Amino acid sequence: MSDSDALTDLERGREDCVLRFADGASFRLEYLELRLACPCAKCGPRQENEQRIIEFREEVMRLRLDKPKAELVGRYGLRFSWPTGCSSGIYSFGLLRQVAEQAGSSLA
Ligand SMILES: [Zn+2]
Repeated sequence: MSDSDALTDLERGREDCVLRFADGASFRLEYLELRLACPCAKCGPRQENEQRIIEFREEVMRLRLDKPKAELVGRYGLRFSWPTGCSSGIYSFGLLRQVAEQAGSSLA
């Protein structure tokens, strides 16, 4: 992980959040996208192929995604606790940056 991937700030809104990184890049990201990238042992296997991703997305979209709790894990990641029952995945800053770039909107 490079230092530019380090998360410097997280602002949690009702339905999305703003992630700011050490290199100055910032992104607005919906919780849905964040939830779909959950790296825990339960959700990880659901992102393995296209068909499972589609099913996983449909399932997550049916849930009401309330604002998750976020907790810093060391200096390298965040643990999000989702009210809908998933709380063991640790999102490394590198993963957060990757999801933000793929699914978020860049805030110049
Ligand atoms: Zn999970």
